[in-house]
Amino acid sequence: MKEFMENRLKIKRKVLVVDDEAVNRKMLEKMLEGSYEILEASNGREALTVILDNQDTLSLVLLDLLMPVMDGYELLSLIENDVNLKHIPVIVLTSEKSAEVKSLNMGAADFIPKPYDLPEVILARVNKTIQLYENINIVSATQYDELTSLFNREFFMEYCTVIDQYYPDTDMDAVVININRFHVLNEMYGRPFGDELLKKIAASVKGYVRENRGIACRYHADMFYIYMPHTDYIEEIFRQIVTDVSDKLEDAGGRIRVGIYPRVNRRLDIHRRMDCALLACNSIKGKYNAHIAYYDSEMREKEAYAERLMADMEKALSEKQFVVYYQPKMAIQEGVPHLTSAEALIRWQHPELGMISPGHFIPLFEENGMIRKLDRYVWREAAAQVAAWKNTYGITIPVSVNVSRIDMLEPGFIDEIMNIVKEAGITPDEYMLEVTESAYTEDSDRIIEVVNDLRSAGFRIEMDDFGTGYSSLNMLSSLPIDVLKLDMRFIRNIHTNPKDLRMVVLIMDIAEYLNLTVVAEGVEFKEQYELLRQAGVHVIQGFYFSKPIHPDRFSDFIKERIEYDNSREA
Ligand code: C2E
Ligand code: MG
Ligand code: MG
Repeated sequence: MKEFMENRLKIKRKVLVVDDEAVNRKMLEKMLEGSYEILEASNGREALTVILDNQDTLSLVLLDLLMPVMDGYELLSLIENDVNLKHIPVIVLTSEKSAEVKSLNMGAADFIPKPYDLPEVILARVNKTIQLYENINIVSATQYDELTSLFNREFFMEYCTVIDQYYPDTDMDAVVININRFHVLNEMYGRPFGDELLKKIAASVKGYVRENRGIACRYHADMFYIYMPHTDYIEEIFRQIVTDVSDKLEDAGGRIRVGIYPRVNRRLDIHRRMDCALLACNSIKGKYNAHIAYYDSEMREKEAYAERLMADMEKALSEKQFVVYYQPKMAIQEGVPHLTSAEALIRWQHPELGMISPGHFIPLFEENGMIRKLDRYVWREAAAQVAAWKNTYGITIPVSVNVSRIDMLEPGFIDEIMNIVKEAGITPDEYMLEVTESAYTEDSDRIIEVVNDLRSAGFRIEMDDFGTGYSSLNMLSSLPIDVLKLDMRFIRNIHTNPKDLRMVVLIMDIAEYLNLTVVAEGVEFKEQYELLRQAGVHVIQGFYFSKPIHPDRFSDFIKERIEYDNSREA
């Protein structure tokens, strides 16, 4: 579209000046001839001939209202009612206030009061009107979203950049609208019902947004994007939209959510601006009485922090700011609790921000793909650590590493992990891979295939965070895993809530039947530990024994383990 606009900018556009007074025509011609090719007509009828001859190339009509033969009103009405002509904007030239209103109502784009203002003002008004109409006309030549006849998303995004280009000083608001549980409504009441809802929202949005000179699109499914000049009553506008659609929606158990990012920061690219509105929109996902949220300073700070982390990551890798910690996993069913393996958990020792926990950066890096690099670093470190302990103490302490879903979908992933293990001088059975439960829910066939191949290559697979995803207990039998890691949620209240304990006992039954080792994660108290031991849980990982620690400090656990082994032999 930009190219298109630029090409149009190079040629001199045609402007038709219609006035019965030659002196008025000359004055306007003088003001505009530097920028435009001027055509002239002295009454409505003459003007109509010129317009019809130039209908594809004429950019604007400047129209006097009071003229003989055919007056300005009549011509204006002809233009506005002709589908082939109404794309040409008309600015009326008038000395009467009442005429201004009347002609605007009839479809005029703007008016220029007589006597004429400063030439610069008139030229600026002419320029702006032409630009605006060109934009609108390009719009009508492109595709709309079929269902809602709002713009489609590609066009919307392009159009936003054009608006930015032409109105660099206008404050703009970005808004995102989404429906809670839309897919559920679709399933419960059928697609036609869902479509009707979307159309209703679109119709309401279109009305209010147009009125405020904004644009809107259906971004996808039940997500709408809006970009419009800032108004102080933006909240009222969107409250009205919420009210318009809420009856039908809330009867069905849905809810509309609106995220507003007022007075956007123009230095952010347009996608990011819309993301900010989306962030606000998502911030009220679980709040059942909230419909509207603003992108605020707290979100801004979070966003800035996230951006900082992403910007610093490459450097951090090369400067070795990432440190791998190890948390002991203790076997508790035989003899005294003793070290059986460890989990590698990454930490970021940031020179300015201090120690950052993975909960803050892993989700970000999973989103932008940087996780691949980071995970490979951890895998290498962990493999080298297993080898180092083996050399120093003559004992293998297997280490498990976390594997993200996107790692698993990468072609060549298995070869890569195999190479890492080989290069470190260890074997796959000295290394374990943790795959979070939720990874199995999307692309599950593909993930299961990869996991099967990994097991054939000799790796053991742990299902991490079990109980947080969607796999049901009966699905477990078909998943190729060796170890089940119960998520902290099961453990947290096990000593106070009998239901949680019953759940763990049930899982243990199934695990035994399937021959799975069970690890309980996040064990902090003695009571929890006792109950889990009685329930038959094999391994415990948690603060009760140790937090994740620096490898230097981990040696103590290995020494204890060696003592334990010796005492068993003796
Ligand atoms: P995870 O794999 O489920 O790791 C267990 C988390 O539980 C760790 O948090 C650990 O410090 C914490 N934890 C262990 N015992 C206790 C306890 O008794 N009480 C409490 N409150 N917490 C306990 P951490 O280290 O903050 O890691 C969070 C998550 O970040 C990990 O969850 C994992 O999903 C991810 N992660 C960590 N390192 C890596 C990595 O190298 N690669 C990838 N892809 N993800 C990683
Ligand atoms: Mg883990
Ligand atoms: Mg876990």
